[in-house]
Amino acid sequence: MRNWSIKDSAELYQVANWGAGFFGINERGHVQVTPRGPEGPAIDLYELIPVLQDRGLRMPLLARFSDIVASRVRGLSKVFAKAIGDYAYEGRFRGVYPIKVNQQRHVVEEIVRFGAPHRIGLEVGSKPELITALALLDTPGALLVCNGYKDRAYIETALLAQRLGRTPILVIDRFPELDLVIRVSRELGVRPHIGVRARLTTKSIGKWADSSGERSKFGLSAAEIVEAVDRLRADKMLDCLELLHFHIGSQITAIRAHKDALREACRIFVGLHAMGARPHLLDVGGGLGVDYDGSQTNFHSSMNYSMQEYANDVVSSVQEACDETGVPHPDIVTEAGRAMVAHHSVLIFDVLGVSELRLAETPEAATADDPRVVQDLYEIWSTLSRKNPLEGWHDLLQLKEEAGTLFALGYLDLRARARVEKLFQASCEKLLRIVRELPQVPEEFADLEKTLSDTYYCNFSMFQSLPDHWGFKQLFPVMPIHRLEHEPTRRGILADLTCDSDGKIGEFIDQHDVRTTLELHALNGAPYYIGVFLVGAYQEILGDLHNLFGDTHAVHVRVDDEGKTLIEHVVQGDKVREVLDYVEYEGAELVAKVEQTANALVERGELSHEEAQLLLKRYEQALEETTYLSRE
Ligand SMILES: *Cc1c(COP(=O)(O)O)cnc(C)c1O
Repeated sequence: MRNWSIKDSAELYQVANWGAGFFGINERGHVQVTPRGPEGPAIDLYELIPVLQDRGLRMPLLARFSDIVASRVRGLSKVFAKAIGDYAYEGRFRGVYPIKVNQQRHVVEEIVRFGAPHRIGLEVGSKPELITALALLDTPGALLVCNGYKDRAYIETALLAQRLGRTPILVIDRFPELDLVIRVSRELGVRPHIGVRARLTTKSIGKWADSSGERSKFGLSAAEIVEAVDRLRADKMLDCLELLHFHIGSQITAIRAHKDALREACRIFVGLHAMGARPHLLDVGGGLGVDYDGSQTNFHSSMNYSMQEYANDVVSSVQEACDETGVPHPDIVTEAGRAMVAHHSVLIFDVLGVSELRLAETPEAATADDPRVVQDLYEIWSTLSRKNPLEGWHDLLQLKEEAGTLFALGYLDLRARARVEKLFQASCEKLLRIVRELPQVPEEFADLEKTLSDTYYCNFSMFQSLPDHWGFKQLFPVMPIHRLEHEPTRRGILADLTCDSDGKIGEFIDQHDVRTTLELHALNGAPYYIGVFLVGAYQEILGDLHNLFGDTHAVHVRVDDEGKTLIEHVVQGDKVREVLDYVEYEGAELVAKVEQTANALVERGELSHEEAQLLLKRYEQALEETTYLSRE
């Protein structure tokens, strides 16, 4: 056995591939965060835990690294600035951040603040988001793109915001909205900034591709766009049509899909000019991917292009279409959300226990007194070898099934069944050791590794904190955040706290495939912490209260110029009382009910006064605690 090094851990967990320069392993074997990029100051993620615990924060925890948001916002602006420079493009870059990707106040505030030098605006898709954006966005000249279904109140609010000096663009998502926008703006005497969302026929690919294609729920068809132009012209409002928008879906994994959509959208843009409209903004939507597994492929949790390549393609396609037709270069708007915020959050939780499937001891030998099936299994276990792994596996499966039937019919007692389980287990383990050495692993053994993996019980809820892993099987990088100087000798899956059998992480990133187990360290009595990375986009807001596990604590971490770690905001997770409130239980009422029951029992002499007191005290305390488990 050779010595394990930190470098081996970095390779095993593929940190360099997905870390985007923000994550690495330090010489102490801990995950470190370099939120300003690899050359900048580093934060030791493991050492951060006691600091946070001193502030009363317990696991699970969401650590948000504000400097990563700043780096990503700056990075996006930079790639577009470079493309614009390289191609001598005449329009400007005007990015907006779609609030729905992560609406947490501190996150949006940071984007507005870090984005101000680049005039980053906001995109909203509903009234509550509009209300938020109007209050937060104060960057002069930044755009406020208003998408989503709109009613009169939405439109009035957006139009009145123009009086505040904001630049809201009302994007027509469905044709009937146009009429409403025209009427409401007349009544208010405000000339609106109007956009139209095109429904492209280009079908994108990937798990989130439903926003495109002819059956998409959003956007105007070519016929409707033409009708909109005629209608605006008739109302002497054609000059209000300032923007063309499209959005083909999120996490677009193949650059080809972006290119196809751009080509079609650019034709629509120059087509609008040919009809006499003068839009000067082209909004290419979101969809800029994040390479969650670091494989640089068009796999659903990856992407086969870089941010610079994307920017180059956007700028050059628009330029080409405009130059061909003599149309002035529009300003380019992007609504990339995932790409701005995914990297900045890490979910950290502790392991509460392990159910190990491995047997330490050799199985007890079978004797002539044992049932036939036990003897046969013992025989297989003793004779398994490199020569016959497949044959052994088939025999094992058959005997296991046979034992099951015998037990059900009463021919095998509980003790014998336990022997069967242990022998099967031991044989699988022996087989796995043999199979791992084979030059070519037969397909039939693919599940063996998974069958024998440990289950690590972890202090989190997948439904609350990683909904896309549950709903879409999206992969996130997962790894222990310490002990990385040691070889992880176990393989396991991570089960969450919910009573739902779906509540587990059982698929992990790989450069070529999907892994069904994760390499982990054996528990040693001390706390063992695991991090799930790149969870800053969509996970927080899509999470739900399955089993009433609520929001985790969250904390915003920064580094100053001297490299000192600063804790900026601590956002308390949900207390039991708050979670119960969502489902209409009132804490005080619950306490009163339990108290009544207890008092009645005390009166009848069935419960002591002290016990009643203790119970009520515990009950009331529980209401004020978080919904997760504490180790002590
Ligand atoms: C969701 C959404 C976005 C954000 O997409 P990302 O893939 O996260 O960049 C942008 N625009 C619209 C219209 C959206 O619905």
